[in-house]
Amino acid sequence: MHVAVKMMASSTEEELEMNKKKVCVVGAGVSGLVSARELRREGHDVTVMEQSGGVGGQWLYDPRTDASDPLGAAGVHSSVYASLRLTSPRDIMGFSDFPFFPRSNDDGDSRRYPGHAEFLRYIRDYCDTFGLMDAVRLNTKVLHVGRPLLDDDGVVTRWTVRYCSSGHGVSEHEAVAEEEFDAVVVASGHYSQPRLPAINGMDKWTRRQLHSHSYRVPDSFHAEVVVLVGFHQSGVDIALELCKVARDVHVVSVKSLEGLTPGVRKAVPRHHNLHLHLQIECLCEDGKVMFADGSCVVADSIIYCTGYDFSFPFLDTGGLVTVDDNRVGPLFEHTFPPALAPSLSFVGVPSQVQTPLFYEVQARWVAQALSGRRLLPPAEEMLRAAEEYHRAREKAGVPRRMSHAIFFDFDYCDEFGEKHVGLPRPPEWKKELMRAAVARLLQDTETFRDDYRDGDLVLESLRLEGWSSAPSPGTLNDKENGIAMHDMMHDRDGETLE
Ligand SMILES: Cc1cc2nc3c(=O)[nH]c(=O)nc-3n(C[C@H](O)[C@H](O)[C@H](O)COP(=O)(O)OP(=O)(O)OC[C@H]3O[C@@H](n4cnc5c(N)ncnc54)[C@H](O)[C@@H]3O)c2cc1C
Repeated sequence: MHVAVKMMASSTEEELEMNKKKVCVVGAGVSGLVSARELRREGHDVTVMEQSGGVGGQWLYDPRTDASDPLGAAGVHSSVYASLRLTSPRDIMGFSDFPFFPRSNDDGDSRRYPGHAEFLRYIRDYCDTFGLMDAVRLNTKVLHVGRPLLDDDGVVTRWTVRYCSSGHGVSEHEAVAEEEFDAVVVASGHYSQPRLPAINGMDKWTRRQLHSHSYRVPDSFHAEVVVLVGFHQSGVDIALELCKVARDVHVVSVKSLEGLTPGVRKAVPRHHNLHLHLQIECLCEDGKVMFADGSCVVADSIIYCTGYDFSFPFLDTGGLVTVDDNRVGPLFEHTFPPALAPSLSFVGVPSQVQTPLFYEVQARWVAQALSGRRLLPPAEEMLRAAEEYHRAREKAGVPRRMSHAIFFDFDYCDEFGEKHVGLPRPPEWKKELMRAAVARLLQDTETFRDDYRDGDLVLESLRLEGWSSAPSPGTLNDKENGIAMHDMMHDRDGETLE
């Protein structure tokens, strides 16, 4: 069920000035930066606090790993590995008015699915073009967001943000300070807190164990026997990379082998040293890994590509927002906690949406709700809508921990933009391209980034929009384009969830 969000008559500049809010955005990844831009467009006074030394979030590749805590997240934010290339085509991975065109003036990466560094360059260009850097405080970690102050009507009017600043190039001195804001936008990402499986003997296994969050390069796995748990996007990338250097790579998937995507089923037999197993029975102190199929190997390393959990360690809402089996809630439309809206909001929680566009829409909605240009429904109505939404999805078989996965449901995304910020529906070619890209990823996991065909509509639209190097024509048939929800029921590299 959808709750109508009312729009006020268009605001005058005077009204916007009166409704100007002092807003703290936590995080300068894609979600935080687009929030900063939209908040500024709406006349708000924005401060973005970013714990790292640069903007970009996940895309700010960090060669360091959490060496002292390879199963956890002891400080490094980015989970990006050196060889990572985008899984979504660049043609639809831009902000609405800032296409992610290949750059012609330097040695950039002009591929349709470029490496991570190219996307970071794009994010930096976005910051420069829209003058966002003067809103960003780098090396500033938010430690605590809380103590909301209420007005006479029980509406939250102030938040206290405690943060620590460090490493300004002068000394390692860290200073803790507090500042008050009218509103806080949480844009801290959700691919940094490793989710680990519970496996018998895991605590006793003395050899190397790490989560994919801490994987960067294959070198140290040379000639090793590696067991890799979880076989989704990161798992597949890492397994295929390790096959080239390791002696053997044993992949463990909780799915039945029949349940693997066609692309994975095609890829496995191509590699003589890649072996599939159903599940791990237990890990033994002497390095043995016992599989549920009765086989066993002595392994040197185990890599868990088992996904990530939401985590907001700095957020203190007195229990009004919680994370329960990876559901952040309650959140109205994945964005506003009913009891604290609009002064507290979340941008970037949904996954399997077209990014960064979906986050841009969320950010615009937040900015307009704060200025009063958009009115949110009463708290009880938002709460009811959030509960109904999740109930309907559970009934449709979506597990709780996939609560924020949208499975590229274009109708939902289009309606979201239309309903909340009056955005026109995106052109059909973008959806066609995205559908084809996802289908290709599932069908041809190893080659989808370099071997693709576009339909006529996509080709023509790309030309019209100024993409000079539109690829050669071809059409995908319906079968290739069909994506079952079942195939998509996993997050970035989480386990299959049925
Ligand atoms: C390996 C990998 C590959 C991916 N590939 C793709 C892809 O091909 N296509 C795609 O669309 N998406 C991909 N994604 C998803 C990608 O993360 C999102 O598209 C998007 O970049 C998320 O942006 P974000 O700003 O929400 O979060 P993040 O990029 O995680 O940014 C959050 C920011 O918040 C900061 N922060 C966190 N806590 C604090 C704090 N307490 N104080 C101050 N700052 C804080 C962090 O340092 C970070 O800079 C991938 C993700 C991973 C992990």
